[in-house]
Amino acid sequence: MSKQQRGKLVVGNWKMHGRLAANTALLQAVAQGSGELPADVRVGVCVPSLYLAQAQSLLEGSSVVWGVQDVSAFTHGAYTGEVAAPMVTDFGATFAIVGHSERRAYHRESAELVAVKTQRALEAGLTPIVCVGETLEEREAGSTERVVGGQLDEVLARLSAHDAARLVVAYEPVWAIGTGKSASAQQAQAVHAFLRARLAAKGAADVALLYGGSVKPDNAEELFRQSDIDGGLIGGASLKDHDFLAICRAAAATSLAG
Ligand code: PEP
Repeated sequence: MSKQQRGKLVVGNWKMHGRLAANTALLQAVAQGSGELPADVRVGVCVPSLYLAQAQSLLEGSSVVWGVQDVSAFTHGAYTGEVAAPMVTDFGATFAIVGHSERRAYHRESAELVAVKTQRALEAGLTPIVCVGETLEEREAGSTERVVGGQLDEVLARLSAHDAARLVVAYEPVWAIGTGKSASAQQAQAVHAFLRARLAAKGAADVALLYGGSVKPDNAEELFRQSDIDGGLIGGASLKDHDFLAICRAAAATSLAG
């Protein structure tokens, strides 16, 4: 499949931001603006799980899909504070981010735990957005491919080729997240090509590969024009409807229909 045939995907990661009133305005604006995009640009928002019902009620019937930022490694049971993947599907969600670097770092999530969470999301019918990325120290040590390859391999090792093809993978260099310093389009493309080859070896070459890390309206188009970048996972800029929709339009400009 060519990059054009894969289309583009832009997903917002709200992180721990939002309140009911502000969410309503943001979701309504995103739903309205997304309605003007070509059909080969898909848009999603991953909200704090408390706001799933709100996202469902405001986005149902629009072209925007919704999801969460994490799921439990368990399906149910005595795991206080956890949210299980089947609960998420009760609210019509499409996506579950797993392995975001903030969870790997602040919650000490291991590569193995991320792989199990990916399985739970798939079993529930969700599309996991598996995040991988290296720290600045790892990049400077020349270890980028070893790190992101290892993170991806841990997930792929547990999946059939059929399930691997259901993933979305996001390359998010830790040094670019929330720092205002995006990877260059060339740096990102190089890692995406590496990840694509790894996925192809598993029989899942057409997985959507998103870039994440300080994507803004002014750098989105150049990133999305790279042959192995199928869209973006957007943190800070997904909280402002104008910026998020401008990034979605940049995706449209690089899509087949755009
Ligand atoms: C993220 O948290 O997934 C992210 C990409 O953040 P930002 O766009 O703010 O760098």
